[in-house]
Amino acid sequence: MDEFALINRFFRTAANAAGPGVKLGPGDDAAILSPTPGCELVMSMDTLIADRHFPADLPAADVGWRSLAVNLSDLAAMGARPRWALLSLSLPQADADWVAEFARGFGELASSSGCVLVGGDTVRGPLAITVQVTGEVPTGEALLRSGASVGEQVCIGGVPGEAAAGLAAWQHGARSGALVDRLARPAPQLALGERLCGVASACIDVSDGLLADLGHLVTESGVAGATVHLPALPVSAALAAAGDEAARRAWQLSGGDDYLLLFAWPAGRPLPDGCHAIGHFTADTGVRVLDAEGQPVEVARSGWNHFAGGGQ
Ligand code: ADP
Ligand code: MG
Repeated sequence: MDEFALINRFFRTAANAAGPGVKLGPGDDAAILSPTPGCELVMSMDTLIADRHFPADLPAADVGWRSLAVNLSDLAAMGARPRWALLSLSLPQADADWVAEFARGFGELASSSGCVLVGGDTVRGPLAITVQVTGEVPTGEALLRSGASVGEQVCIGGVPGEAAAGLAAWQHGARSGALVDRLARPAPQLALGERLCGVASACIDVSDGLLADLGHLVTESGVAGATVHLPALPVSAALAAAGDEAARRAWQLSGGDDYLLLFAWPAGRPLPDGCHAIGHFTADTGVRVLDAEGQPVEVARSGWNHFAGGGQ
């Protein structure tokens, strides 16, 4: 099957041709879209390279899901609602079975999140996927990384560290289970992002690791620092069973790929369901982690933890 046959079969579908706000979907030289009056467009793009951003033997449906999920997570972090996506696929060969599975996983998340695939590109090359997404937010209401102030709480939208634990499990041969699912099928927190609009003063999605991404909030907000209280980090049963305390601490603080929202929240205000206050922004310089006794915890490494240990 050649490139054109693949495109026609899997991506030039009725849903893509006639989705909301889609005047013209895949098939022409470019798509034509109708934005919602009163909204601003919010755009993001991410590239996933096999064996760097996902294990090359990850099932194609999961690769499809994940390639859209990491992009939608950026929209969630802005409080935006997803509208349209573009997909650039670089494939070593025109493998119809692989593309069918990829399209199925991509399509499942696209339809459940209201995002329509309106075009893209298909080329022969090493396995790599680039997705560009466009979302919308009411004018002036987007959540930014800047805006946190000293004294506000540092909050997270779930249990950090599960995807990193899932990657460790994958590398030891596990191919299913709650932790592997968190790695294979990250769930972008779109509803939470919209809920945070107007209340949270800063927000980011955790892709590189909790401390690394908290560092971005600190820097962009222009506050001196932030403190994370180790005992305040939520732990799930699956995570508790996955490794010893040192491993869990490293996954929670430095493991990437969780795609949870990390945000600044006014002190004393009730948190949205499923969210946890784990620390606060400080006038003391730097991002610190304190244990139950208030002693500083040494953290080996903060930052992404990709599959080949390579760059981002
Ligand atoms: P061109 O040579 O003009 O760039 P292409 O053959 O690359 O045309 O694409 C033809 C049509 O198919 C375009 O509308 C494009 O958006 C769509 N398309 C190509 N690849 C993909 C893909 N992977 N996903 C969705 N649409 C695609
Ligand atoms: Mg093209």
